[in-house]
Formats: sequence, structure tokens, C-alpha cells
Amino acid sequence: MSDPAGWTRTYSGKVRDLYTNPEHPDRVLMVASDRVSAFDRVLEPVIPGKGKILTQLSLWWFGELDGMPNHLAPQDEWSAIPAELRDRAMLVTKLAMFPIECVARGYLTGSGWVEYQQTQSVCGVELPAGLADGDRLPEPIYTPAWKAPLGQHDENIPFQRSAELIGLENATVLRDLTLAIFTRASAIAEQHGLLLADTKFEFGAAPDGTVTLADEVLTPDSSRYWDAAVYASGTRGVSFDKQIVRNWMKEHWDPSSSTTPPPLPAEIVDQTAARYRELVDRLTT
Ligand code: ATP
Ligand code: MG
Repeated sequence: MSDPAGWTRTYSGKVRDLYTNPEHPDRVLMVASDRVSAFDRVLEPVIPGKGKILTQLSLWWFGELDGMPNHLAPQDEWSAIPAELRDRAMLVTKLAMFPIECVARGYLTGSGWVEYQQTQSVCGVELPAGLADGDRLPEPIYTPAWKAPLGQHDENIPFQRSAELIGLENATVLRDLTLAIFTRASAIAEQHGLLLADTKFEFGAAPDGTVTLADEVLTPDSSRYWDAAVYASGTRGVSFDKQIVRNWMKEHWDPSSSTTPPPLPAEIVDQTAARYRELVDRLTT
């Protein structure tokens, strides 16, 4: 796709593309594509509608979290968003990003579960013995990761290491904001019959120094959502994120291999798209 008029693509992540425009020097246009990644690989084909859903959900959550400074440009500037990208793009303030993925967990699963089995702790946070995959934690925990430069894997780190990387004051602010937002968001999700198992936030410093909530927020790409009723019935691991994709991949491809993953079959694409749509419907209506 050619760049929209006036905007130049300056960065492509696995899922999002960033654009800048000399007419809007303080802004970045963040465009969510329909690409899907798993095991740090971009897969084929795309999930139709995914980028629109990620953008819609982020915008909805920014609205729910009012009072928390976020990176959205003021509404009166949104007309700068090219029409063809309107439903999948956010116009945001260009921030000095902290190289920390601010992860909060209310439940033990994923990489947290893996670490717990080896050390009975996650990122240096000690936990009670005897927890199982999917268990609710006594209270939400903050488990930061260092955002590795492109091509490297992000690395789970203890809080102390994050303080060495960005200073104790910033690290403390990020931790406290992460846990506060997570607690607020979990309560909202529960009102909609959803459990927020874990999520990742990114923050940046605004030109005036304000620590600001950035990136996408509380989307199924950055979070694990579970159906509260299914969870209560004892079934674990049914989620509204790309678990369907991960499961299929694990059955048909070796994540530790360097080979190109096989294309996703149409039914996996459809099921994943439906899952993402269901999450939006349940949360926002
Ligand atoms: P990955 O492909 O692993 O997701 P990524 O996280 O670097 O890599 P994306 O998430 O697709 O890539 O792209 C979004 C990028 O924009 C991230 O690097 C994120 O830190 C950055 N970002 C988010 N909000 C802002 C902002 N307000 N100002 C500047 N950069 C931002
Ligand atoms: Mg990212």
C-alpha cells in the first residue's frame, strides 16, 4: 500500500505501522493493520477487520479510563487522519517512550506460569506455593519486561532492574499506574462477564514530562480476557485473544524452528475474527 498523502511510514511493527507528517510535527499516526502475530512471527493470511477492532477497543478504553493522561491528540485534530485509514488509525502525541512493557497479572498463566513453575515467583514477585495454571492471584502483580530492540525477544525483569533502566522514580510511577489502571479495568471487564487475566501497557513522557498512557490499551493483542462463566465452570484457557491461532500453530508447526509457519486455514481465521468481534460486543454494549 502506498503511504497516504502527506504521511510517511517511519516504522512497521508486527501489527502496527507508524506514520509522521511534517505538517503535524508533534504527532504520530498509529495504524493498526489486520496482521496477526504469534510466537513473534507475522502469519499469513490477515484476520479481516482485526485492525479496526483493535483501534475501536483502544479508543473505548481510553474513554473509560478518563482522568488518566493518554496519548490521543485532541479531537479537533482528528480530521488530519486520512479518510481511508479513519477506522483503524489513532492520531497521537509523539512521546519519549519508556523501554518497559508494563505487565499486570491478576491470574497466573502464560510466561508467568512458566516462570512460577521454576522459581515460585514471577519477575521477582514471590507467590504462594501450590498455584495451578489459570489460578487467580491473591492480588494483582506488576511484572515488567524490558522492550528489547527489534529482532530480540522482550525479557521479563524484576522491578529493581526496571529502576536501573529508567530510574527509581519513573519505575515506581509506571508500576503504580499499571496496577491502578489494571484494577480499574478488571472491575469494568467483570461488569461485562469478562475476566482480565493479564495485560500490558506502555507509557511515555509527554513534552512537559507528564507520564502518559500510550500504545494500544486493553486489546486482545495486549491482554488475555476470559469468559467469567466458563472460568467459573472450571474450564481454563478459553480466551478472547489469539489463543486459537497459537493452539493451531503449536499443532502444525514447531515454534522453535526457523522455518516459515504454514498459512492459517480459513476456519481458524474466521474463528479468530469472530472471537475478536465477540469481545468488542460484550465489552462495549
Ligand atoms: P511488535 O511488532 O513486537 O509489536 P512493536 O511493539 O515495536 O513491535 P507495534 O506495537 O506494532 O510494534 O508498533 C507500535 C510502536 O509504537 C511501539 O514501538 C510503541 O512503543 C510505539 N508507540 C506507541 N505509542 C507511541 C507514542 N505515543 N509515541 C511514540 N511511539 C509510540
Ligand atoms: Mg507492540
